[in-house]
Amino acid sequence: MSDPDYVGLGGWTPAELAVPGEVRPVVTAPDGVLSRPGPEVDPTSDEVVRLAADLVATMRVSPGCVGLAAPQVGVSAQVFAVDVTGHPKALTVHGVFVLCNARVVEASRWKAGREGCMSVPDLTGDVKRAGRLVVEGALPGSGRPVRLVTDGFEARALQHEIDHCAGLLFLDRVAGAHAVYQRKVYL
Ligand code: ZN
Repeated sequence: MSDPDYVGLGGWTPAELAVPGEVRPVVTAPDGVLSRPGPEVDPTSDEVVRLAADLVATMRVSPGCVGLAAPQVGVSAQVFAVDVTGHPKALTVHGVFVLCNARVVEASRWKAGREGCMSVPDLTGDVKRAGRLVVEGALPGSGRPVRLVTDGFEARALQHEIDHCAGLLFLDRVAGAHAVYQRKVYL
């Protein structure tokens, strides 16, 4: 934990996966895979490396998408991609990355904020999330353990994706029907 190499991505990029990602169709609610907790994975397995590359490829072709979890492409597993690069609300930005078996180890500064989800295309909702977050997980490919310290919008995206891996949607986290909104703009 005190090893500085352990903090941050250590220069990881999707190029390290060394396989081309394929764009997969995104599953929408109420598909059962979205409400099933995903099992832990072996981050070094070929299957998980391919899945990681597919998540990045699918995220990249989806406008406004800042994160995508394995259940959203129909795979029940604890793997997700995040990229909040260029988002106006982002403070700390780690770029594009994929984490396996991610866990929240510290969470503070809870605050409500609006969220959407490609798997719930017609709704948004106000969800309370930690504004400061420490997450541990493993990188696909090498399986190297990492600890990410982040905040603001990237922290929110991480919590949203970790929830997906546990079978939870933002709709499971809203305070009630009053905190759910019909999308006014269709992208
Ligand atoms: Zn989502």
